[in-house]
Amino acid sequence: MIAFEAVSKTYAALSEKGGGHAALSGVSLSVKAGEVFGVIGASGAGKSTLIRLINGLETPTGGRVVVDGDDVAALGVEGLRALRRRVGMIFQHFNLLSGKTVAQNVAFPLKLAGRPAAEVKARTAELLERVGLSAHAGKFPAQLSGGQKQRVGIARALATGPKILLCDEATSALDPETTEQILELVSGLNRELGLTIVLITHEMDVVRRVCDRVAVLEGGRLVEEGSVEDVFLHPASGTARRFVQEAEGEISVAPGVGGRLVRLTFKGEATYKPVLGEVARATGVDYSILGGRIHRLRETPYGQLTLALTGGDVAAAIAQFQAAGVRVDDLGGESV
Ligand code: ADP
Ligand code: MG
Repeated sequence: MIAFEAVSKTYAALSEKGGGHAALSGVSLSVKAGEVFGVIGASGAGKSTLIRLINGLETPTGGRVVVDGDDVAALGVEGLRALRRRVGMIFQHFNLLSGKTVAQNVAFPLKLAGRPAAEVKARTAELLERVGLSAHAGKFPAQLSGGQKQRVGIARALATGPKILLCDEATSALDPETTEQILELVSGLNRELGLTIVLITHEMDVVRRVCDRVAVLEGGRLVEEGSVEDVFLHPASGTARRFVQEAEGEISVAPGVGGRLVRLTFKGEATYKPVLGEVARATGVDYSILGGRIHRLRETPYGQLTLALTGGDVAAAIAQFQAAGVRVDDLGGESV
């Protein structure tokens, strides 16, 4: 649905934000139809630049961005307009028109597209219903909470019936509970309307909740890409490790703890099996629990436990964990 082919972007050196250096360098990635694709990175990593290339708000200085079959840079004014009807976008600060009501904000793209008044009215009502704002149609943005403003943003982004929804830090200005509700709404659009979603965030937790795959940007370069499961459970890049640690908290190992340190990762079914006890009994290995958590990646439960294994047959224990579908990462310590 979306393909980045060796895309680079260097802003003009005279721009007010600085520019002159590459905001993106040689980024290649593809987003499949119907998936929720996350992009994470620190501030300044190039996330907004990347997402704005998708709907032609920026043009690449190298490489190509192909969206739904179109090379975005090759589109004329009309082609770009048509593309933007197929690609909706929501923003961190909502970007609503403060002088217009909720209904007028949602109706705005339809009026721009020259739709007949009766259609605009019916479609606006339907969209407000979808985002749960029917009772607030006549209010102005200043009278709404942050979550309600983002719901208006979402309804407006959906007005022209897009196939793709771009979310640039859409929950970064919201409190955790509101974030949860907005993510639920966005997930529903993906499930029920089959929308392809590209979601940019600096919060790993957002990625964990809603994304299928994730790309990690570091200084304008793509440093890691994979299923959320892989990147979350086994982050390879420095940036991904930092993000996961921030989201999950760090496991600290007390000095002087003996034994072989291992991290076990249980996924799906294995999360709830009594594997630890079985392996301990069978191999005579004892364990101290140093840290652990059970969470969900979208619908998949997973658990991670950091253990110090002592006594018994440690090598056999590790082999048995692996045979039971548990991933074992060796964190060092005493050798077997
Ligand atoms: P992010 O969204 O990850 O914070 P951005 O894509 O906004 O990153 O910015 C990436 C880099 O490009 C930063 O160094 C930023 O200062 C620069 N940049 C972004 N937009 C512009 C612009 N319009 N002009 C000049 N430099 C820009
Ligand atoms: Mg940004």
